[in-house]
Amino acid sequence: MREGISVAEAQAHVLEAAPILGAETLSVRAAEGRVLAEPVDSTRVLPPADCSAMDGYAVRAADLAAAGPGGEVALPLAYEVSAGGVAPRPLEPGEVARIFTGAPLPPGADAVVIQELVETDGPRVLFGSRAERGDHIRRAGEDLAMGDRVLEAGQTIGPAQVGVLASLGRSVLSVHRRPRVALLSGGDELVEPDGDIAGGRIVSSNSYTLAAQTRAAGGEPLYLGIARDDPAAIEARLRAGLHADVIVSSAGVSVGDHDHVRSVLESLGCRLEFWGVRMKPGYPVAFGRFAAQTPGSPGTLVFGLPGNPVSASVTFEQFVRPALLKMQGMRRVHRPTLQARLTHALDKKPGRLHFVRVRLDCEGDSLLATSTGNQSSGVMRSLSDADGLLVFPADSTRLEAGDLATVQVTCERALWRTDRGFEA
Ligand code: AMP
Ligand code: MG
Repeated sequence: MREGISVAEAQAHVLEAAPILGAETLSVRAAEGRVLAEPVDSTRVLPPADCSAMDGYAVRAADLAAAGPGGEVALPLAYEVSAGGVAPRPLEPGEVARIFTGAPLPPGADAVVIQELVETDGPRVLFGSRAERGDHIRRAGEDLAMGDRVLEAGQTIGPAQVGVLASLGRSVLSVHRRPRVALLSGGDELVEPDGDIAGGRIVSSNSYTLAAQTRAAGGEPLYLGIARDDPAAIEARLRAGLHADVIVSSAGVSVGDHDHVRSVLESLGCRLEFWGVRMKPGYPVAFGRFAAQTPGSPGTLVFGLPGNPVSASVTFEQFVRPALLKMQGMRRVHRPTLQARLTHALDKKPGRLHFVRVRLDCEGDSLLATSTGNQSSGVMRSLSDADGLLVFPADSTRLEAGDLATVQVTCERALWRTDRGFEA
């Protein structure tokens, strides 16, 4: 087991150990938010035929060569084609057809003139301007041709992908399974939210934060409850998590007299890969894995996160979230980052990377980062107020006001605040 490693080393270990989970078949509707386990190729031509992009008149462009400022061309209306209909016969030279958006182009026609540009005179249509071949025509296959690679394995299914799949007539899809994540809290001081907090007890808020982070990362949380600070109690609850893909415990993983999680994990046969990551908040993080319960299946991964609420949340963000995304088959597993200018100086000792809770604001062309206040690992308020986590590198000891720093964007609100909008 390695001890006291860097954030980057710890992430690399975790991502190497995290397996990509197997596939399951879901209806296209139910697959939203899932990751494709196989590519999707087009089995249709879309649009299936050349069709009109506008309401107007299907013409042969050559017939309108004489139309222009000098004179109108009057042509007889042969028939009408609506969306879902077909032309009763080819369009002969010198004829035009009424046509509507989405209707197939009659054979012989090579352009559509929009209805705003013509006048009608009984059975004749008057054209005051020329048309170019191809005007207002959607070509067969311009959206999808037969055999086109439409979606790649590893792509997430969002609304647009659901629409494309529906157009192809797909009803079911092969997507990666969601990781099942067993969440365990531990500590004699903890109670459930409806519990009595008299006598210095505190609510096990981590159970909620980590369940929410699990769901936001596409995992299925399974709650193992609160274990007392007693090896037998911890063991019993951990055993219940062994059928999950991942166990995430918080608290009891440090070096205190009541911190039993590490020793219990080892006694259950978990191979610990590292303990202690040079970061703040969140040094005492343990990571390990159990051997496969059934041959061929991946063994359960175990994250022993610190108990302090901000440490638990930030270490989940750095290690558990990327693992959960990889397990679902996603190719990009890290949060996007932005470069922002600090509005004030920051100091620290060398040795650990600090994740500083910051708010982001836009000022002219600059993005500004400002600490959200008390950075103690027990203060959730400053995490709740934060748009992102500023990376204060391990070896650096001071960042000046005005310095550019990297900020991990951890919530969508950051994008609203940093959005400069556009002029429509
Ligand atoms: P520990 O890692 O057990 O030393 O816990 C560190 C701090 O985190 C203590 O102040 C605990 O009360 C607090 N803590 C531990 N577990 C939770 C939890 N599930 N929810 C909120 N705070 C917790
Ligand atoms: Mg404790």
